[in-house]
Amino acid sequence: MPVYPRCGVRPVRGEGVYLYGEDGQQYLDFASGIAVNALGHGHPALTKAITEQAATLMHVSNLYGSPQGEHFAQRLVDHTFADTVFFTNSGAEAVECAIKTARRYHFANGNPERTDLITFDTAFHGRTLGTISATNQPKMRDGFEPLLPGFKYAQFNDLDGALALIDGNTAGFLVEPIQGEGGIRPASEEFLRGLRKACDEHGLLLVLDEVQAGYGRTGKFFAHELYGITPDIMAAAKGIGGGFPLGACLATAEAAKGMVFGTHGSTYGGNPLAMAAGEAVLDVILGDGFLDHVTQMGARLRSSLEQLIPNHDTLFDSVRGHGLMLGLKLKSDSRRFVAHCRDHHGLLLVAAGENVVRILPPLVIDESHIAECVEKLSEAARVYVPVADD
Ligand SMILES: *Cc1c(COP(=O)(O)O)cnc(C)c1O
Repeated sequence: MPVYPRCGVRPVRGEGVYLYGEDGQQYLDFASGIAVNALGHGHPALTKAITEQAATLMHVSNLYGSPQGEHFAQRLVDHTFADTVFFTNSGAEAVECAIKTARRYHFANGNPERTDLITFDTAFHGRTLGTISATNQPKMRDGFEPLLPGFKYAQFNDLDGALALIDGNTAGFLVEPIQGEGGIRPASEEFLRGLRKACDEHGLLLVLDEVQAGYGRTGKFFAHELYGITPDIMAAAKGIGGGFPLGACLATAEAAKGMVFGTHGSTYGGNPLAMAAGEAVLDVILGDGFLDHVTQMGARLRSSLEQLIPNHDTLFDSVRGHGLMLGLKLKSDSRRFVAHCRDHHGLLLVAAGENVVRILPPLVIDESHIAECVEKLSEAARVYVPVADD
């Protein structure tokens, strides 16, 4: 189906931070498959793990015991707030599991009327019927009604507005700690901590969508660590498989109390091949000094971007985000500038809401890649004509 506005880049091979097109063109990949290729392309440890596991055991059903899933889940539990994990094949499925877990918690507590999640404008949670119901963005919802009931929408970073929506049917909040698709909009500390506090006071659940912001992207294992809070339920995906389709819904034992035998499932979810990919990525992410490396590279990239702004102040507005989840806000259309960087300067970036250019490099970049990106951006900005006459 022609649902993707695909551009002319047609990659056939990847190596580290570079992609190569059909005719051998080289691209500096600061998009990472939209925050997925955390280890870049062709990472030897990830490739080896997938190859070996494919030859050993690729898939069995969740009818059987899973030593691979138990091991990987235990490592996630050891390094997060969570006590329990459900594996999925994508981000949207991880959010679906999070929504079901939240509803089921209140059901198990004898409050089946507490079904509603309060979500936020410009949120993105995926493309299933459930997850498009969890955003109020018309471009994702139009023509797909009737959608799933049980969602209310508040303004992102408006704590009072969110609290005003709480009533007897509220199950909790579903929120991205840093909106990705919405334009790299970090939650304010007051906002996220305020939601946590309201959950504690009203017996509600804080459900975080860390599909994009999580897994080392911000320099923390998960972005909520930047805020000094923990969720009750959390969706993860994107970077977790480094390019292998994998997602996870993590929860405390209390929040997951309703998810008993028979309440949920997935044919592929957590199969041995996916677990091998996940373990290989996790080895790198939790390796000595890796998250500090992300923080350092993020600070360096950010300050280089900030230095660019005064030289191109009719085009660039500001920089925002954390770690290697950065947004460069433009004073004009970001889609057109992203296309310009791609087609004329061999630099891959991603457009997002609010005229923001998303900069999401592989987490394994070094200083030379940052210098190369900034040089390309600076040259791109120098020759760019913001107003189209084409
Ligand atoms: C990408 C994304 C999703 C959806 O993930 P899929 O793997 O495309 O289903 C959900 N939430 C956030 C915050 C995302 O960035």
